[in-house]
Amino acid sequence: MERLTGVSASPGIATGMAHVLGSRVEVHERRIASDTVDGELRRLDAALAHTDGQLARIQQQIAEREHDGHQYRILEAHRLMLQDEHLVEVARGIIRDQQTGAEWAVRKALDQIQVVFDRIEDPYFRDRSSDIAVVGERLLRNLMGMVETDPDEAPQGSIIVAHDLSPSEIAQLGRAGAVGVCSDAGGRTSHTAIVARALGMPYVAGVEGLGHKTWSGMRLVVDGTRGEVILDPDDAALNHYRERADHQRARARRLTALRDAPAETKDGVRVHLAANIELMEEIAAAVEMGTESVGLFRTEFLYLERSDLPTEEDQYAHAVAALKSAAGRTITFRTLDLGGDKMPAAVRIPSGQNPSLGLRSIRYSFHRTDIFRTQLRALFRAASVGPSRILFPLISGVAELRMARAICQEVCAELRRDGLAHDPNTPLGAMVETPSAAMIADLLAEECDFLSIGTNDLIQYSLAADRENEHVGYLYHPLHPSIMRSLRQIVLGAARHGREVAMCGDMAGDPLFVLVLMGLGLRNLSMAPRQIPLVKSVIRASTLGEAEKLANTALTLRTESEVEDLVYNVMYDRFPIELDDGQSDRKD
Ligand code: PEP
Ligand code: MG
Repeated sequence: MERLTGVSASPGIATGMAHVLGSRVEVHERRIASDTVDGELRRLDAALAHTDGQLARIQQQIAEREHDGHQYRILEAHRLMLQDEHLVEVARGIIRDQQTGAEWAVRKALDQIQVVFDRIEDPYFRDRSSDIAVVGERLLRNLMGMVETDPDEAPQGSIIVAHDLSPSEIAQLGRAGAVGVCSDAGGRTSHTAIVARALGMPYVAGVEGLGHKTWSGMRLVVDGTRGEVILDPDDAALNHYRERADHQRARARRLTALRDAPAETKDGVRVHLAANIELMEEIAAAVEMGTESVGLFRTEFLYLERSDLPTEEDQYAHAVAALKSAAGRTITFRTLDLGGDKMPAAVRIPSGQNPSLGLRSIRYSFHRTDIFRTQLRALFRAASVGPSRILFPLISGVAELRMARAICQEVCAELRRDGLAHDPNTPLGAMVETPSAAMIADLLAEECDFLSIGTNDLIQYSLAADRENEHVGYLYHPLHPSIMRSLRQIVLGAARHGREVAMCGDMAGDPLFVLVLMGLGLRNLSMAPRQIPLVKSVIRASTLGEAEKLANTALTLRTESEVEDLVYNVMYDRFPIELDDGQSDRKD
């Protein structure tokens, strides 16, 4: 048994067998005798047939659950690649002419294909090389008799071990039945972590040495609450974690009873609690948890889970379906927030040396106004079907906000000319997630209908600490005095113009921070659906007086640890149930 520590990226406890996701298969050259060439060719044929059979099986599973047939078609293309002469005939030729093992021949054929792809100028076709790589690695694993490592084939109840994972991979794994995740890389507010929380999958990121110490089939415990992974736990440890998991589930059940109670303090101050949504299936769960609206709909996930660009009709249908599941609750659709750690397959976004400081989010929308306009057309049309708002991400100044608004006006004029129903009065908001936007929150508030604070990025940019990078995770401190002051300034800036200010970053959903946020003047919090009952429970047991006292004292302190000591002590004393993770020493 061994305990490794990382970052708590999605709370909860999971136990199960490890399923290690592989990367590039290591192949060594193997010379063969001339009389074994035919045998080697037969091995290749058998592996091709086996691989095709696996893909056909996955295709069948997808056909049963997918509606638009998109992934099914990708699998069809992958199966055709197994018959491609550039792969199969070239590999056969290498076995025959160079008398090498089949694995080496396949690797060389794949490398040759890669060279051709690298020369293609069109980014769309160049990116298709990843498809051939996926098929090729699967073929190699089969040739070498390795355990399957396809995300779609993660055994039910398994725990995924990976170096790194993309947001769409984790969504796929969750749907395939994986119950927990751990990775060497990644951070607490990465979008992969956000999806893990959305799916309720415990996730520990940034676990050093994980890749070298685990193998498929090993028993693991992922303690996402405390950020620990236990390798090969003994019976006593397993019992301990099972008890804690039971305890956490029982508390969640108790708190869900608050579903229909208002989020109101003991002295009558009302707080609006909303849900953050990444995947359509979360909306029903959010309604179940008692959400009052969808405060952040991350529309880019529609782009991340497919290999082509969604059309206006696709996006319109998606937004209308979301409004339907929200059953009359307002949805705040955030426009595309691509780039950084969210790279779609359909378009190539130049990442530059510093992806999160580069062409991401609203900047990419301005760069590809064709994609942006298509999305806006869909959203303004959907707004005529149900209550909606539109939110622009990563706004750094008034000029960007004006540019986004001007494009909205043009899009609405176009929809009018096309005779399509739409709502030109849809409220437009700006996210405050850069220090620049925080400093001029009053100017932004004056020129839009509402503000929404994205603390994940605001903290990343304020403390200059990449939210993806496990080496600087230690700098992530939501209670840092600089963040306290920024939040206060944003609230005052919005109030100056009578605008609503919401918070939709992760900070809004952590029960530890609720009192401070209320004390700073926030009355609208949007969070992962399963956090709603916890946050509501804290609000209902508190008073505005104590919240303001706590925030005002916090604002006088000079270091993040002083603020944390103050806030944690108050919160663990006042809210032992909401902050109890089944192990009494969390605050130490
Ligand atoms: C944020 O930055 O806090 C936010 C809500 O946006 P995202 O996490 O999608 O970047
Ligand atoms: Mg953000």
